[in-house]
Amino acid sequence: MSTPTVALVIPVFNEAAVLPELFARLGALFDGGHGCVWRAVLVDDGSRDESAALIRAHLARDPRFELVELSRNFGFQAALSAGLAQARGADAIVTMDADLQDPPELIPELVAAWRGGAEIVRAARRSRAETGVRRAGFDLFHTLFGRLTDFPIEPNTGTFGLIGRDAIEAFHQLPERHRFFPGLRAWIGFPSADVLYDRQERAAGQPQQTFRRLVRYALDGVFSFSHLPLRMLTYAGLFIAFMGFAGGLFFILWRLLGFENSQQGFTTLVVLVLFLGGIQLIGIGVLGEYLGRIYDEVKQRPLYVVKRRTGGKQ
Ligand code: UDP
Ligand code: MG
Repeated sequence: MSTPTVALVIPVFNEAAVLPELFARLGALFDGGHGCVWRAVLVDDGSRDESAALIRAHLARDPRFELVELSRNFGFQAALSAGLAQARGADAIVTMDADLQDPPELIPELVAAWRGGAEIVRAARRSRAETGVRRAGFDLFHTLFGRLTDFPIEPNTGTFGLIGRDAIEAFHQLPERHRFFPGLRAWIGFPSADVLYDRQERAAGQPQQTFRRLVRYALDGVFSFSHLPLRMLTYAGLFIAFMGFAGGLFFILWRLLGFENSQQGFTTLVVLVLFLGGIQLIGIGVLGEYLGRIYDEVKQRPLYVVKRRTGGKQ
């Protein structure tokens, strides 16, 4: 292969505080060469601060940078998809966060693993910077996801990583709207490799992914990659129906054997009614999760709307 083109895809949402450092560290990486032609595709996901203006000013000075501006905030996954589409011609794409929690200095190692034959290279955290509830949430999600789906994602990997040309093309074959990148990356297959790194604190600013968003993202992950919640309902239904049947049989025999029916049992009745009502509502909720996703898929709306592209080959 002649000098390969490696494009970095970086979603940006209100990251004005970290952008100067991001530009500096990416500039240093690019200047190092590492036997690659570099592109940085920054996707402005409807930032409400001066992020887009900062990026535009920077790419006027450095033609290796490109900007895709979305018409509003579409969320991290949509911004990522917009970047992947823009970077499609590249030989390899590195996906990473803008906040420098994913250190750019690791990228040459990702590229080396790719050159070594891995079509998908995941950056795996030796350690996590998050603590407390967020940390517990991440751990719980990874455990659940691993149990529920046929395509477990490595517990310490996230978006940060590299995908080669064939994997990029495979990605563009995936038409779904609810996109959970690490899951899709596991689903498409190909030889893969992990490169270890220490996850950093964000360089500046606040996390832009709210806890609510992360929960929604986790649910997307589970519902798009597993039918197990539906199957569990079937099992619960079968179990309860069986208990009802056995109970009925028991009471009939009880009467036939000449025993009296007792008049007590109010508590039992209330508990049973509430329990069954609860199971049914949960069932409707789970069905609703799938139905809502089916509805989103059939609407066939685009994942994002591009307002403007600046820089790059267009
Ligand atoms: N981000 C985005 N759109 C959003 C929220 C976040 O493009 O609606 C970007 C953000 O700028 C950052 C990356 O997604 O580059 C990860 O966000 P954040 O650091 O807030 O998430 P966390 O590190 O907590 O997963
Ligand atoms: Mg972050």
